[in-house]
Amino acid sequence: MHKFLKLLPLCLLVSCGGGGGGGDGAPSAGQKAFTSKQYGRPIMLAFQDPSCQKGKALEVGTLGNYNLSYIKEGRAYNGVHSLSSFSSNQNLKSEAVKNIIGGMHFSFTHQNGRSEYNSISKGQGIKICDTHYSSGYLEMATLTTLMSIDKAYSFHKSLSGSKNLKAIDLLMYPTIVDIYYFEDEKKVEKIVSTNVDNAYYFKGSSEIAILPQGRNSYNKGASGFLSGHAIWEIPFVAAHEYGHHVFSSYYQTNNKNLYNQLRKANDQHKMEVVYKEVHPEILRKLASSKSQRYEDGKLLYGDDRQEAYRKVKKINAVKALNEGFADLFAYYSLGKEMANLKDINCFKNSRDVFVDSFSSSLKKELSSWFEYNYFSTYVVERPKDCNTPYVQDSHAMGAIMAFGVDKLFSTVSSLGTKKGQLLIKWLKSMDKIYEKDLAPKTLLKTSILAAFEIVEEDQGSPINHEQCLAMKIFDKYKYCH
Ligand SMILES: [Zn+2]
Repeated sequence: MHKFLKLLPLCLLVSCGGGGGGGDGAPSAGQKAFTSKQYGRPIMLAFQDPSCQKGKALEVGTLGNYNLSYIKEGRAYNGVHSLSSFSSNQNLKSEAVKNIIGGMHFSFTHQNGRSEYNSISKGQGIKICDTHYSSGYLEMATLTTLMSIDKAYSFHKSLSGSKNLKAIDLLMYPTIVDIYYFEDEKKVEKIVSTNVDNAYYFKGSSEIAILPQGRNSYNKGASGFLSGHAIWEIPFVAAHEYGHHVFSSYYQTNNKNLYNQLRKANDQHKMEVVYKEVHPEILRKLASSKSQRYEDGKLLYGDDRQEAYRKVKKINAVKALNEGFADLFAYYSLGKEMANLKDINCFKNSRDVFVDSFSSSLKKELSSWFEYNYFSTYVVERPKDCNTPYVQDSHAMGAIMAFGVDKLFSTVSSLGTKKGQLLIKWLKSMDKIYEKDLAPKTLLKTSILAAFEIVEEDQGSPINHEQCLAMKIFDKYKYCH
């Protein structure tokens, strides 16, 4: 019934870190010593009404109003929202979402440069029987996520010239596990990493996954990732993931090669995180080995160098465009109040489209330094602190782009719908630019400059002095004279 394409997640909400948890030794396998380590223990949510899930769901027709709880302006907030676009005939659905699935469990095994997908459980449709749910249960997490997706869907639909989008599937709290095997002559090491504290968009199957909170971030509370909140509590997250659905529905829709590259790039990113943050001793070993080199799409380690180097392709530019677009889309579709990431660790300011600096107070400007490092073939050291932008993270480059483009669009209108219309026009224009044979750096530049051309076309005149100030963020590009 449920088809899941064997793809790795294509777009993440955050550039994921190593995750928490401790290691443990395991008995040997065969003649080689065998060790196993586990990372990222998820905190799963229970159903408030388990009997409802066992086929007793009311055939309620259209859903009504719900008192939903989520984080707004950095605080816990309760607000009544209509979910009348959703109907329930045993299973919930709407034009925007066709299946809502809980309990899904799958794994990716990574060994010798290959990744293999395994489905462990397909999960089941989440049912709603009542109008009153409390925070801390899976029903509330689901309804709050649906509110956000519904807003994103309706916003996009309201824009003139918008396409009909495919309905998505929503995976609530799936257990997604990456299993890595590292092997040498003496031992086999197995690393099991359960994905937590993140959200994914899977392009091939049009699925959005809202992952469970990790025990580590939960235990750290206010000082931890997302200030101790679960990912579903932040409305920005689901709207951002829906933004990836919009981006993918316009951008290079039939370009299989691009999506293979995107998949490889994310795979590479995950390997890099496992090496650098989870398993640094393997990184050191690779870096000191003359012979150790990896194929295309994987990290390459230079001979006799301590630095790791990487391939830079058009996909590096596309990832930044995709992330910046998704942040802008979330901001315009939810509005400033609800999209606001105030007081949320690792997101505040950095991912707030309307704030001019990252949390570390580095200005959101496409400086020569930022551009050089983003496209550098050397792997730049990842900062320890999540509030400091990582110069090779597409979310950081995307945040600069989102800030600058919003500044430009704000000179045309303060209305989300008008900005949304410009955003879609710009996306269509970016889609055409990809066809040109441009180097990664030029692809990013040309795509960003297309936003200025869209504004000129919209206003029927060249960009003015105020609009040139927005161009300051992209100072390098010298669009204004
Ligand atoms: Zn994203």
